Amino acid sequence: MARPKHGKEIFRWCDECGSLILGEGCSTCAPSREFSVSLPADIRPCTGTGVDTVKEVFERKFGTSSFLDGRLIFLNRIAGEDRTDEIVVEGEVIGTLRFEIVSKQFNLDLKLAGARMLAPLATKGLVKVKQPSGHLKGRSLPGTEIVEINGDFEIGDPLIVHSGNLICAGVARASSKDAVRSKKALGIRDAGKGRIKLPERDLTWMDFVRCNETHLRKLESKAVSDIRSFLGNRKENEITVSFSGGKDSLACYALARKAVGDVTLLFANTGLEFPETVEYIRSFASKNGVRLIEGSPPTTFWDQFPTFGPPAKDFRWCCKVCKLAPITSIIEDNYSEGVITLEGNRIFESFARSRIGFVERNPFVPGQINLNPVREWRAIEVWGYIWLKGLEYNPLYDKDFQRIGCYLCPACLASEWETTRRTHPELWRRWNDDLLQWSKEVCVDDEFVEHGFWRWKNLPPKMRNLAETLELRMPQVRTEQAQMKMIKGASPCTAGGFSIEGVISLPVKRDFSRVAEVLKVLGKVRYSDEYQIALVRKGDATLKVFGGGQVTAIASTREEAEDLFDLGVKSLLRAQMCSECGICVKSCPREALEISGGLKVDESRCTHCGKCIESCVVAHYFDKLVA
Ligand code: SF4
Ligand code: SF4
Repeated sequence: MARPKHGKEIFRWCDECGSLILGEGCSTCAPSREFSVSLPADIRPCTGTGVDTVKEVFERKFGTSSFLDGRLIFLNRIAGEDRTDEIVVEGEVIGTLRFEIVSKQFNLDLKLAGARMLAPLATKGLVKVKQPSGHLKGRSLPGTEIVEINGDFEIGDPLIVHSGNLICAGVARASSKDAVRSKKALGIRDAGKGRIKLPERDLTWMDFVRCNETHLRKLESKAVSDIRSFLGNRKENEITVSFSGGKDSLACYALARKAVGDVTLLFANTGLEFPETVEYIRSFASKNGVRLIEGSPPTTFWDQFPTFGPPAKDFRWCCKVCKLAPITSIIEDNYSEGVITLEGNRIFESFARSRIGFVERNPFVPGQINLNPVREWRAIEVWGYIWLKGLEYNPLYDKDFQRIGCYLCPACLASEWETTRRTHPELWRRWNDDLLQWSKEVCVDDEFVEHGFWRWKNLPPKMRNLAETLELRMPQVRTEQAQMKMIKGASPCTAGGFSIEGVISLPVKRDFSRVAEVLKVLGKVRYSDEYQIALVRKGDATLKVFGGGQVTAIASTREEAEDLFDLGVKSLLRAQMCSECGICVKSCPREALEISGGLKVDESRCTHCGKCIESCVVAHYFDKLVA
């Protein structure tokens, strides 16, 4: 793969075969040429109803989409308000597909290559202008320059603009009705000469595989070699694959089969999977004669929803409760000696995954070693490999789902949520009704739900701007949970050292004895039920937690006082908001915890190592739970 330059990545294209080329050259024929797409360049194929989506936009804007028939269409996700994909056809980026959150429709930004392809075919979205002096690119033209308009358009619509022998990619700054009288009728994004002639094609994705077979086999060979090298003479003799029903885990399955033969599939069924995914995973295991271990969380998402509220991109409590909990149970129940698990994580998926290594360990799942054999593969390489191996994939991909997982995941795009509304109306309604009910309880506008703002605790700038444009009434930080009022920031005590004091108001009030119990993981607790006070001494430091929610920490340094105060707040929240997910129980190396009418700590075993606090979903998100 060529190296990126100026925010672009260079790929190759074979004009003979009409296909993207992933390696140095086409496996079947002549030399290929270069073209570029924007980073991160995780190119993927456009398949199934995804093709219909692209065609519908071209049909709506230019009255034609037949030029796409028989061709391989590739999409390249780039940054944007919501789903934003560069569209690659015949080795050219012809436009950018954009999902608009407010209109809930796809729109198109046309590129010059798209204008040059469509110019002889389009029946609308066409404007002829006078030949102005000087360059056209980047200019805004008044209506007085317009000679002819073909077809209606609205502000923001893409246009093909003809000017003399130039063809331009333009955008409407006024509607077709007002354009002629407007001072700013249209903008010219780019201009060039000549049409792009399109050869006849009748291609399938197996043509893409044929062109790239050499490259795909090299990828497989390297990944298999990496897996085998790691295994060496290790004691673990069983390889497992974390099988989510997605394409990346499917590729991992095929690599594991090639590397070691027998594998076991692990499926953490969150209870929020699409029915097709559950059905696919079970039938895939059965058809391929592979052992499948399926785990489910000890408590459901719906049980925890009243406590935590909707999960958010920056508050994914559901992952810990519904996904991590079943995985830890599967490992503990089946692999007490440890296990190696192949995971389909890829560096192109997100910033968080951009630095994953081949070998990773999840601190919350002791005994499991994770290998990421496809971490450097692009989506198109994963798909090429799946087609090369003839693997059956999840049918949801052919319904324009790009991410297989929980159907109400806050990481989903608004466009995906619209797809869910269309394909799974019952699931969509259930979650939408719950969100609307919740929005009433926390006094935010229904549009908060309607436009997907619930997916953030703290809105990012792009969503804040959109909220302002829509004049929505909404909190910038959700406050449906606990609230903290600082009485005194860390300040010197008259008796020496530093103290810090605050009050936490909680929506849930469980018996105070639970707080005293949870505090035992910090140190020896002195507790009075009558006065509703629990006191923990840690060396010279003292932590006091009161039934009314007051937390006071005193220590010899400011940092120690602040750390102890945080631990006090986390303990209070753990006691009052515990979801009984059991993750902390499994992460305790001393088996000092159990859940029995709340969390119980065996003081004779606890060494106050703090591992249970690190693993706890409530403690992890304590700053998000407290406003
Ligand atoms: S994880 Fe550490 S602090 Fe927590 S209960 Fe176990 S021994 Fe105690
Ligand atoms: S205290 Fe333990 S059981 Fe409760 S939410 Fe935290 S990790 Fe889960």
